[in-house]
Amino acid sequence: MDPVDTEQGAQSSSEQSPLLGAQTSSNDGHDEPPPTPPEGKKTALIWTVLTGLFAVGLILVFTLPVTDWADPFPTPESILDSAPVIDGHIDLPELVRVYYANNVSAFNLNERMPGHVDIPRLRKGKVGGFFWSVYVSCPKDAGPDFVDPTWRVRDTLEQIDVSRLLIEQYSDTFELTLTSQEVKDAIWNGKIASLLGVEGAHQIGNSIAVLRQFYTLGVRYMTLTHMCHNAFADSGGYLEPLPPLHGGLSKFGYRLIDEMNRLGILVDLSHTSDQTAEQSLKYSKAPVIWSHSSARAVHNVSRNVPDYILESIKTGSNDAVVMVNFAPFYVAPDGKATLESVVDHVEHIGNVAGRQHVGIGSDYDGIGSVPEGLEDVSKYPALVTELFKRGWSAEELRGLTGGNLLRVLDVAERVARELQKAGTPPVLDIYDKRTDLPVERLNVDSPT
Ligand SMILES: [Zn+2]
Repeated sequence: MDPVDTEQGAQSSSEQSPLLGAQTSSNDGHDEPPPTPPEGKKTALIWTVLTGLFAVGLILVFTLPVTDWADPFPTPESILDSAPVIDGHIDLPELVRVYYANNVSAFNLNERMPGHVDIPRLRKGKVGGFFWSVYVSCPKDAGPDFVDPTWRVRDTLEQIDVSRLLIEQYSDTFELTLTSQEVKDAIWNGKIASLLGVEGAHQIGNSIAVLRQFYTLGVRYMTLTHMCHNAFADSGGYLEPLPPLHGGLSKFGYRLIDEMNRLGILVDLSHTSDQTAEQSLKYSKAPVIWSHSSARAVHNVSRNVPDYILESIKTGSNDAVVMVNFAPFYVAPDGKATLESVVDHVEHIGNVAGRQHVGIGSDYDGIGSVPEGLEDVSKYPALVTELFKRGWSAEELRGLTGGNLLRVLDVAERVARELQKAGTPPVLDIYDKRTDLPVERLNVDSPT
């Protein structure tokens, strides 16, 4: 039992002293024998109470999971206090681009923002961290082999700049975090841990060298595709699948995953085709994520994850996490998306892949409409409350809110350390459709 109750027990026994004193003083000298001093009974009573408390304590200790010792009677609120939400995908940088042309001094995050995210609402929603998506759209003008010059690398750098400037400008709230340990430390210190994610390999301009530079700027996941194919992999399209180009990953795509594993950048499979996802899940040495994807069996659009892939997470060796997307058009038929329907996706993924493989990837600020009951970042507690009502344990909910993601990030960091320690060289392959470099350059793993 916890110290508070023991203290109360001790207090109530000491409160009997004045009563005993009153009984003693009531003996006014008549022959009537004084009341038997209840010392023996009192001691027995105290021992009975203490033994009872000890027994209850033992039962709790041996029946609750380790993580519940400190919170034997959890509530949705206490769960979120100990494990705040770490959202896999928030598009605040895109909102800043579209609304304010990247001018970070043109608004105040401490006041109401036009989208779904600002500091007061993040605090109300018990947010402990999120991936700032540094998204820019697919190029329409890159040509059939994606080699025509575009502005996507510049634009991505601008979105990284926006994110880093805002994290610095509001440093009493946000902290740029580069490892799972830094995320935990930031949360412990009351900050909102801030990670960066690139949403599509079109943003690296066909160059693995650019990926390495994004890593040095703080990027810790990259989605292999957005809604278009690229040099590395096939996309899953929007609501309907696209005709495949590579049949999943290209050869260059496999090399991209090699480098992501070596660096410690999570492979994100949201937006990819089923083949891309299936092949990456099997090939990646580090756990993969879906930073913002829901379940196709609950709502049938190609953007959602099919059951056979969810099942392969359960049976396979890749410790993946699927972070559920709130976008109404991926969650339910038109006009029907609610908090409960998002919870149905969480439950389905939990049932098929396992509850230790689910997370939250809202897509806030990246979606025009929202489900009823999940209007903005202040509403995560409603999601946790609904799952709590449906029987999710505190431990499972702490996994959902952020623990599962942190576990996966931790393993990806370990894989990267091991690969680097083993002397795995950086991937120096270049895209074979490029003509701007000497044609005799060889695709080799290390310099010759
Ligand atoms: Zn997206």
